[in-house]
Amino acid sequence: MIPEEYGGAGLPLSAGAVILEEIHRSGGNTGACHAQMYTMGTLLRHGSDTQKRYLPGIADGSLRLQAFGVTEPNSSTDTGALQTTAKREGDNYVINGQKIWTSRAEHSDLMILLARTAPITEGTKKTSGLSVLLVDMREALGKGMTVRPIRTMMNHSATEVFFDNLLVPTANLIGDEGKGFHYILSGMNSERILIAAECIGDAKWLINKAVNYANDRTVFGRPIGQNQGVQFPIAKAYANMRATELMAQEALRLYEEGKNPGAEANMAKMLASDASNEAANVAIQTHGGFGFAEKYDIEQKFRETRLYQVAPISTNLILSYLSEHVLGLPRSY
Ligand SMILES: Cc1cc2nc3c(=O)[nH]c(=O)nc-3n(C[C@H](O)[C@H](O)[C@H](O)COP(=O)(O)OP(=O)(O)OC[C@H]3O[C@@H](n4cnc5c(N)ncnc54)[C@H](O)[C@@H]3O)c2cc1C
Repeated sequence: MIPEEYGGAGLPLSAGAVILEEIHRSGGNTGACHAQMYTMGTLLRHGSDTQKRYLPGIADGSLRLQAFGVTEPNSSTDTGALQTTAKREGDNYVINGQKIWTSRAEHSDLMILLARTAPITEGTKKTSGLSVLLVDMREALGKGMTVRPIRTMMNHSATEVFFDNLLVPTANLIGDEGKGFHYILSGMNSERILIAAECIGDAKWLINKAVNYANDRTVFGRPIGQNQGVQFPIAKAYANMRATELMAQEALRLYEEGKNPGAEANMAKMLASDASNEAANVAIQTHGGFGFAEKYDIEQKFRETRLYQVAPISTNLILSYLSEHVLGLPRSY
């Protein structure tokens, strides 16, 4: 998705969605690389020409992955409460604080970091005063940046990252100081749509596995799939997956027409994570005891699909968004 002038293939978001969906539909997982498709959008849309010198290296793979440092232990869903500071001193920002759940940091050469450059003052929004910095992790590690892995129930190479007087050149400030939250938000529609594509791929893989197993497994002298008690949950998961697909396509269509599909992208992500979660439940149930055996891969997908109810945005927060911004209900937080 990096434009051709920077050495990329210049593919549209729909191509990215197809690629991610297909990898998941084949039983894979794109967690190792999916964020590359949207984190560097921040650099592409808001970075200076000098900062864009990284793009060809990202496109040809000579630069390793990129990490996205937003979430903190005390500010998660509430991004405006983040406490990592970036204080300008001469030609550098001095970074202090901590990020958590930073995926892929151990395997990344660059990080998009959201930090506070101005304190919260009365009358200003909590989300103002946040800025985006491009951190070259090859220079930062061991010189004020420490990365520690977090073991989780599925592999997203999650880490916590500590900053102790890390120096980042002021030239690495993306866009204007204090506007970082808006720059990060501007990439959210594409993130939601791509995550939806992954979930739809997962749902398809799981439904396919359930159907095959239901056809093959014989109990009481007949395939278990002959029982409506086994068929119907699979059929329902299929119908929900197909409905989700339509919402995701609608979000993509609006996005590629240059419109703002905030509602559709969020709904697509929420419905798709529900669909993959439902398909995972159905697949494990259909496989009976074998659903829990590593050999069948169902338990791994079951663990992987569960994540999307929480990250990168939780279902509750999408419902809050729809309640407030689409339905006009009072803000709840
Ligand atoms: C494997 C993994 C990888 C991740 N990768 C990254 C990454 O690369 N970079 C990054 O910055 N972050 C990353 N995250 C963080 C992820 O975005 C957050 O976990 C997610 O946004 C939820 O935040 P939280 O975990 O702090 O939950 P919290 O904000 O503590 O919320 C806990 C629960 O309370 C609910 N809740 C909170 N407030 C409300 C409310 N007002 N109304 C209703 N319900 C509410 C939430 O929905 C949630 O279910 C990752 C997380 C995981 C698990």
